[in-house]
Amino acid sequence: MVKARKTFKIITYGCQMNQRDSEMMADLLQDAGYEPVAREEEAGVIILDTCCVREKAENKVYGKLGQIEKLKSANPDLVIAVAGCMVQQPGVAEKIRQQAPYVDLLLGTGNLQELPQLIEEIKAMHRPRIVVGEQEGPVVEDLPRRRARGAQAFITITYGCNNFCTYCIVPYVRGRERSRRPENIIKEVKELVDQGVIEVTLLGQNVNSYGRDLKDGINFAGLLERVNAVEGLKRIRYVTSHPRDFTPELVTTISRLDKVCEHVHLPVQAGSNRILELMHRGYTREHYLELVADLRRHIPGISLTTDLIVGFPGETEADFEDTLDLVARVQFDNAFTFMYSPRRGTEAATMPGQLPTAIKKERLKRLMELQNSISLAKNEALVGQEVEVLVEGPSKTDPDQLSGRTRTNKLVIFPGDQSLTGRLVRVRLTRAQTWLLKGEMVDG
Ligand code: SAM
Ligand code: SF4
Repeated sequence: MVKARKTFKIITYGCQMNQRDSEMMADLLQDAGYEPVAREEEAGVIILDTCCVREKAENKVYGKLGQIEKLKSANPDLVIAVAGCMVQQPGVAEKIRQQAPYVDLLLGTGNLQELPQLIEEIKAMHRPRIVVGEQEGPVVEDLPRRRARGAQAFITITYGCNNFCTYCIVPYVRGRERSRRPENIIKEVKELVDQGVIEVTLLGQNVNSYGRDLKDGINFAGLLERVNAVEGLKRIRYVTSHPRDFTPELVTTISRLDKVCEHVHLPVQAGSNRILELMHRGYTREHYLELVADLRRHIPGISLTTDLIVGFPGETEADFEDTLDLVARVQFDNAFTFMYSPRRGTEAATMPGQLPTAIKKERLKRLMELQNSISLAKNEALVGQEVEVLVEGPSKTDPDQLSGRTRTNKLVIFPGDQSLTGRLVRVRLTRAQTWLLKGEMVDG
């Protein structure tokens, strides 16, 4: 009989949405008497919470499964689960069963709350399970009370996506957009603040369309007003904003609300109108540039970050140069840059003009060089300023230093005592690098 130790380790791939799902699974398991452990070798249950946005993310999961197989050979009682987006794609559950028959549980995005019960069934019945239901079941609210993890927390406000950008698998694996009711979101924020949380990040694939499906007049601007009113909360962040749905009302609302941080992650994806249309993004480069100007007019010092895809099917050198031109004009603080990765079942995967990897790599390199020089220049311009930093803990690269983020989401490294973790401190910025700033505390 398979008998697992009551310890678990979750390995998370992909976006903040997955991180939040992993936290939810951890809460469920802890409520069922399981203890989290730091190392896979110590775990009785290992869960891979997967991503399928790009092929690379999937390959990482197969690689990890290969490593975990050795642990299973040494400990046949070990329960291995693969959960999340990857499992939700047609045919993938079967593929994992073939490539990694030692996996005990395949769990879809809409079934995560069944995890503890399924583990017990696997231990009792001694046979693997595949539980992949509808991605878009009703929004589940009767989950166990959330455990805060430090001073920051992610809060999901919408599930799924209605946009069907032609390159993107998300609507297929996460289903159509469903908004949580505002009173449930506010209740969760308050519960977290009671546990010491001072910064929340509101999550949705397109936060700007929050509330449309609720049809009772609430929208994202209205939700921000209500979250801003929660006493004890200090900072509000949100991802991801869709440029098409970022209304002038929202620009003025975020400029007015004191807790809403001066940072917008505003994925543009491409700088060529022809490619934006093929991507089905619903805006032009002119609209995007006007929105950026409007944000900067209303919120001086706002930082802007973005996502960019190079090598979309049919992208010519001239299209790519439009992207470089837009990046140079906007002067983003930071950008996540990706090579287009065809995803089976999406419209773009069968479009003509799929580009060879060599061209995608070369364009990615040129784009990153440009963005890196801009990121460095933007950071250099901040040297000498005094900023508010939320201390996240010891720096990953130098444990003797602290790391934290400004309201504009800049990473700052500075000397200080670990007991300041979770606190807001004032830091004078002294040196700039491409990805971070160094500084020294002004007061404690
Ligand atoms: N909903 C968000 C949005 O619209 O920006 C984020 C979705 S996705 C998880 C994060 C980023 O992955 C996207 O903004 C896009 O740049 C990138 N991405 C999505 N599908 C991709 C693909 N097939 N190939 C390369 N990059 C992709
Ligand atoms: Fe994917 Fe587009 Fe939805 Fe973002 S908005 S999740 S890129 S379909």
